[in-house]
Amino acid sequence: MEKITARIGKIMDWFITNRNKLFLAVCLVIHVIYMCLFFKLNILVLAYLNFFSSAFYFYFLFVKKDTSEKSMVSTYYEIILFSALSELALGQDYGFFLYMVGMSATVFYLVPSYGNKRFVYQIVGIASALIIEGVVMVSGIGFPEMQETASPYRIPVYLANLGITASIVLAATFFYSKETESVWETLRYNMNHDVLTGLYNRRFLERHIELIPEKERRQYVISMIDIDFFKKVNDTYGHEAGDEVLIKVSKCLKETAGKENLAVRWGGEEFILYFPDSTTEQIHPVIEALRKRIEDMVIEVRGKEIRVTITSGIATGLADSNYEKVIGSADEKLYLGKQRGRNRVII
Ligand code: GH3
Ligand code: MG
Ligand code: MG
Repeated sequence: MEKITARIGKIMDWFITNRNKLFLAVCLVIHVIYMCLFFKLNILVLAYLNFFSSAFYFYFLFVKKDTSEKSMVSTYYEIILFSALSELALGQDYGFFLYMVGMSATVFYLVPSYGNKRFVYQIVGIASALIIEGVVMVSGIGFPEMQETASPYRIPVYLANLGITASIVLAATFFYSKETESVWETLRYNMNHDVLTGLYNRRFLERHIELIPEKERRQYVISMIDIDFFKKVNDTYGHEAGDEVLIKVSKCLKETAGKENLAVRWGGEEFILYFPDSTTEQIHPVIEALRKRIEDMVIEVRGKEIRVTITSGIATGLADSNYEKVIGSADEKLYLGKQRGRNRVII
């Protein structure tokens, strides 16, 4: 199930990333089909119109290979112009005006820039639809004889235009909402996590503790952890190697915390492990094992072998303790550990 979800997610990402190219390809196909139809019907004005539109899309898709904002805006105006001319030639019965309406709903998804410009495009589309429809209703169409030739195709062309427009609006809305969802997910993740290590951040831990309802508060344990002589790692092997060490140490912390507890990057090379519903007697051996594991770990960065140690201070918080004081107490013990020679756990 997870594999299928991941695959669907990947396909979705591909569609979102390539949406402008796909859109151009769909437009090209539609114009080629209409070009063939109108050539067959010998309605040459519309056949040439579709020929030029096809050439336009072919150029953007295969020659210029450009899906930038400029291309997409040009595409948008091409669609409005094409719909307006088709409408003027054949009248309302073929539903070409639907493209103007549909595109004014879709343009803000296709054009990457944010802000008011997109609303201007929308207004242009809606105004064009109103003006063209007004002109056609008041003055009639330009080529009544063409309408007669095309009339056997009136219903399928109208339904095709309606179906295509509705599908484009549906697809744009769907992918827009998927994209927004994934942006929100990233935002939520970044709000609560440290981006380098993937551990929870300080803000998350503070909020987590503050938001525990009073009735559910129990004794907990805080282990404050600091990497020893970390500045030396940076100075000797470089900042990037330092980052790699932070990532590897964080992985150990995450594994120690498991699912029940929280591993937090408190700042720089300082971490907190938060154990709810626990006692120091239970947690001390866990942190001691972590200290030993890190002491024995060899971190390989670009052929260099780096070893680090950690010092930790452990403090217990009671149900009604002020958590800042508990963290302060763990920090004092950590400081004591540093004074006593580092690479140790103080309770
Ligand atoms: P001590 O044993 O007393 O803790 O010594 P230390 O060198 O570890 O302590 P100090 O606080 O002097 O140095 C911490 C260093 O951690 C300084 C800072 O440049 C480095 N650091 C903080 N955040 C990052 C980071 O995200 N990446 C890297 N590479 N280094 C970081
Ligand atoms: Mg340190
Ligand atoms: Mg430090």
